[in-house]
Amino acid sequence: MKVYNTLTKKIEPFVPREGKEVKMYTCGPTVYNYAHIGNLRTYIFEDILEKSLEYLGYHVTRTMNITDVGHLTDDSDDGEDKMLKGALREKKSVYEIADFYTKEFFEDCKKLNIKKPQYVSKASDHIEDYIRMIKKLLKDGYAYQANGNVYFDVSKMPNYYELSGKNPDDLKVAVRDEVEADNSKKNPADFGLWFTNSKFNDQAMKWDSPWGVGYPGWHIECSNIAIHFLGEYLDIHCGGVDNIFPHHTNEIAQSEAYLGHSWCRYWMHGEYLNDETGKMSKSNGEFLTLSLLEKKGYDPLSYRYFCLESHYRKQLVFTYESLDRAVSSYQSLKNKVKHIMEHADGTVDQEAYQMYQKQFQEALSDDLNTANALTVLYDVLKSSMSGKTKLELIQSFDQVLSLSLLETETIDAELKEKVLSLIEERTKAKKEKDYERADQIRETLNEMGIMIKDTREGTTFEKIK
Ligand code: AMP
Ligand code: ZN
Repeated sequence: MKVYNTLTKKIEPFVPREGKEVKMYTCGPTVYNYAHIGNLRTYIFEDILEKSLEYLGYHVTRTMNITDVGHLTDDSDDGEDKMLKGALREKKSVYEIADFYTKEFFEDCKKLNIKKPQYVSKASDHIEDYIRMIKKLLKDGYAYQANGNVYFDVSKMPNYYELSGKNPDDLKVAVRDEVEADNSKKNPADFGLWFTNSKFNDQAMKWDSPWGVGYPGWHIECSNIAIHFLGEYLDIHCGGVDNIFPHHTNEIAQSEAYLGHSWCRYWMHGEYLNDETGKMSKSNGEFLTLSLLEKKGYDPLSYRYFCLESHYRKQLVFTYESLDRAVSSYQSLKNKVKHIMEHADGTVDQEAYQMYQKQFQEALSDDLNTANALTVLYDVLKSSMSGKTKLELIQSFDQVLSLSLLETETIDAELKEKVLSLIEERTKAKKEKDYERADQIRETLNEMGIMIKDTREGTTFEKIK
């Protein structure tokens, strides 16, 4: 397999440290709100990566964090504690907020056929690990205390800018938690490992530490969760491109300073999903969640298909028109597969099977060329092979594509239209406080085998299994 490595800025053969065993770490969500479909694009890319590696004969052990602590800021980086803001917004505790949105995140993943990583761990469960790491960094001279906080001294790491390709003169604020210049730091790029004194005074989660009651910096969680579950060496670390600097840059600095050796050989990053105005974010324009798409009648898997049509390293612009095109391609793909299932005759032609499987593997091995992998699938459908051979290949490819190609339980267009109109009627009834009618409609939908769910963005539905 060949992958583009952000560290070397080259496409390289992928060689794990230990034969076919792959240790993979992916940065998880900050759970103060729903994931937007841009976030989900990154998780789809990582899911495809993990499944491709498995398909190519590797065994992947994967870990992901859940960021539930820290002064969580998002794309707009306005320096607010997002967990606290979320808690105030919804009149819940930060723990409740974290639990709620973690569940919602995994619900979204399930709908997109994204496999849950083997180890998923909350940042707030690793305070002892952070303290151990920070103590060692202080002892070895990589960290220093100033103004009540502990900072990492980036000048101690000669390769600090290797991943990002930036340079020391770049005074862009180096930690997303400190938008304002912090005068207590030795170098502008130094980043916080532990805070007892910051502008985030009302940080809700705090713990005792040798440096006083406070909370960890953001970057330290990923280094520790990775080391905790995967040991001293990682093969692949992933995230979205916005994680390259400062997050991954700082993860490398503190992990390598702590471990005393290089840490992770391959760094892979997924490009942005943009909307027409630019990078999609939670605070910019329509908040595009998966439930919103569902509410508008889109099958989540057509969004997965939409992502697979383009390369993970290319920016992708989301518009409803382009999603509609993906919907019709996906629907026609499923119809073709359905037809093959109904006429799956003959026997499996082993030679043909292997030839197409090889082509599919080559597409994946080419830095995850999912668009070409889909082309191989279409070639299979078009070919004159027996139905049985086609079916076996579709089943095999879908281990990676995860488009539920062999599940025919989709809602047909006519039924969908009926469901949407009943949902609309129910929303109207609720608005008019006609709860009896609203309940009746829910009942009718249930009888039709449709379950509805009221979310913040509106009502979504799914077929009762
Ligand atoms: P967050 O929950 O903000 O930490 O983001 C979760 C993941 O989504 C990270 O890996 C980000 O790099 C990624 N991400 C954020 N915005 C986008 C976007 N517009 N397109 C693709 N990935 C994104
Ligand atoms: Zn991370």
